[in-house]
Amino acid sequence: MKRASANRRMTLLVMRDAQHSVKQIHLSKPLMMAVPAAAVLSLSGLILALQAHSSQAISQLEQKVTLENAKNLQLQNSVNSREQSIERLQNEIIKLSTQAKDMQQRMQQVDQLERQLQQFIQKHGTGMAADDSSDKASSLSRDASQHVGGEFVAVHQNEMLDLARETKDDFQEMQELLKMMESKIPQTLQKAQETQRQIAGSPTLWPTESKVMTSSFGYRTDPFTGRASFHAGIDIAGDNGEPVYAAGAGKVIAADQSGARGRYIVIEHPNGLQTWYMHLSKLQVKEGDSVDKGEQIALLGSTGRSTGPHLHFQVVKNDKPVNPLPYIRAQNSEFD
Ligand SMILES: [Zn+2]
Repeated sequence: MKRASANRRMTLLVMRDAQHSVKQIHLSKPLMMAVPAAAVLSLSGLILALQAHSSQAISQLEQKVTLENAKNLQLQNSVNSREQSIERLQNEIIKLSTQAKDMQQRMQQVDQLERQLQQFIQKHGTGMAADDSSDKASSLSRDASQHVGGEFVAVHQNEMLDLARETKDDFQEMQELLKMMESKIPQTLQKAQETQRQIAGSPTLWPTESKVMTSSFGYRTDPFTGRASFHAGIDIAGDNGEPVYAAGAGKVIAADQSGARGRYIVIEHPNGLQTWYMHLSKLQVKEGDSVDKGEQIALLGSTGRSTGPHLHFQVVKNDKPVNPLPYIRAQNSEFD
């Protein structure tokens, strides 16, 4: 029992250095075995704790990295969307500038039409109702140039997009207006020209220098037979070789000679009107010619059935002779 007990004890010698005595520590065997085991246990615990700690740190790091990546991705996305926005904006602006060019061209066309119309109105002095629309045209062209200008400076991107869109809408509206005007102005011009054609074409000009009327329109005693007869025009006495003028603009549909009429001219005017000039000594236009109002067409004479130098002037409306005086009397002042 004692031996067995002695065997269970172990002695530990602790030597610090040469000066100190050696210490003996008696320890029981189980205790002696427990100490390293405890050490091993606590060491492995420490390692485990360390492992846990480091794995936590790693996962935290990983989380951080993931978060950073997400942020980067977000940033990249935002950069991309910004770039897209800028590109869209640039496209809008390019479109606008193209529209502006188109608009400028149209404005120039309208301007030209406007000038044509103004020239026409100045020339003929007829107050045509196109002034309003032409005023609109010039004010529009001023607005357009203002819109193209430098409004796209230092504003937020969305505002820029809105502005671009609004400006585009404005342009479209203006284009519609212009389209309308473009189609309207030529119509007005055409109308004005037609009116002018009517005015120029109506035979209102006294056809000779002389104003001495020797025979009027209607029933009279025939100068040759002495019998009652119908005189289809008026006779204006004049000198042989005196100029004869077209009473209105028109087309010469006859420049010929016949027994009774002598040398004669027929001019066709708008509205079914014709003027006839007879007993001429010389024809100065030919069939098919266009003549202006007041243009010299012949020389006065006494050819055909005539008793002396005079012009037989006749107005025919829808193939029927009518009294020329209401036509030419009112416009004597035009004769210059
Ligand atoms: Zn006559």
